[in-house]
Amino acid sequence: MSEFHEAIVIGGGPAGLTAGIYLRRAGIDVLLLEKGIVGGTPLQTERIENYPGFPNGISGKELMERIVEQGRQFGLTIKEFCPVASIVRDGERFAVTSGNETFESLGLVITTGTTSVKLGVPGEEEFQGRGVSYCATCDGWFFADLDVAVIGGGDAAIEEGLTLANVVRKVYVVHRRDRLRAQQILQDRAFKTGKMEFLWNKIPVRISGSDAVESIILEDTKNHQITEVPVSAVFVYVGSRADTAFLGGLVDLDGAGYVISGEDLSTRTEGLFVAGDIRKKSLRQVATAVGDGALAGVNLEHYILEKR
Ligand SMILES: Cc1cc2nc3c(=O)[nH]c(=O)nc-3n(C[C@H](O)[C@H](O)[C@H](O)COP(=O)(O)OP(=O)(O)OC[C@H]3O[C@@H](n4cnc5c(N)ncnc54)[C@H](O)[C@@H]3O)c2cc1C
Repeated sequence: MSEFHEAIVIGGGPAGLTAGIYLRRAGIDVLLLEKGIVGGTPLQTERIENYPGFPNGISGKELMERIVEQGRQFGLTIKEFCPVASIVRDGERFAVTSGNETFESLGLVITTGTTSVKLGVPGEEEFQGRGVSYCATCDGWFFADLDVAVIGGGDAAIEEGLTLANVVRKVYVVHRRDRLRAQQILQDRAFKTGKMEFLWNKIPVRISGSDAVESIILEDTKNHQITEVPVSAVFVYVGSRADTAFLGGLVDLDGAGYVISGEDLSTRTEGLFVAGDIRKKSLRQVATAVGDGALAGVNLEHYILEKR
């Protein structure tokens, strides 16, 4: 027999936890399902400086631990290591499946975020965990006093490059353009470290080594010249993608694969709301994920009160 809750939140990052807090405080019976450990992407971020209320910044881990604690204080039930594989609409109810368990609810908030886009070059898969990484905060220490490369030119690439610069000997920033996309404050810091060298107009074509990463092969986008840069690790930050396969045909997606939602964060399936990075939006940050979680939580609450 499947377990019933009035609301189910899928994903335990800032958006999902906030939706859970709002639903619980409204007296809704809610279950949050998380595929790994609750906390979401900020668990991988060394320091968050742009979330209001923390003038000196806060580690992503500490911020999320506080939000989880707040959720638990309001009685939010969290089930970890519970990856949702499919969702089916069955009359007035949703059936949510994870492994051999099924959970039912009147409504859902989907907050499963995004995953890192891969470079798709030879050596990337082979050396993952042996020098290829998508998380400087997690893996930077392994390369203390060595040379590493960061691929990308946006906020995530430069933030993580700065984290690495505190630990490693040198950070090569490989960017396909001749200027960064990252916020100016991050760029200013990066240019000042003296430990970051910028390789402009370059794209990686191969990651090379024997047992572990030993170098990265780059192609110049202008003159197509090939160069080999000796590095012990390659940190990849070339964007993110929403994994929406488990949603079946219940939502509409934009051209980039993000879920299209209304102003109230509803989708084309009644009772199914989305929040956070998974949805089509112009800014993917903790502050906007939390705002989305609050709005989706309140709108799902109203929906459930009508259906009760
Ligand atoms: C390197 C990096 C640095 C960043 N730095 C900052 C910063 O300084 N400031 C800032 O504001 N933002 C920063 N961000 C962005 C911020 O982390 C995201 O915008 C925010 O975490 C989005 O929250 P979310 O809840 O939508 O998704 P996430 O935090 O990604 O949470 C999604 C959760 O859903 C779970 N999940 C996924 N699929 C399933 C499934 N099938 N079943 C169950 N659970 C599932 C995941 O395990 C995860 O816990 C950074 C991002 C990166 C990558």
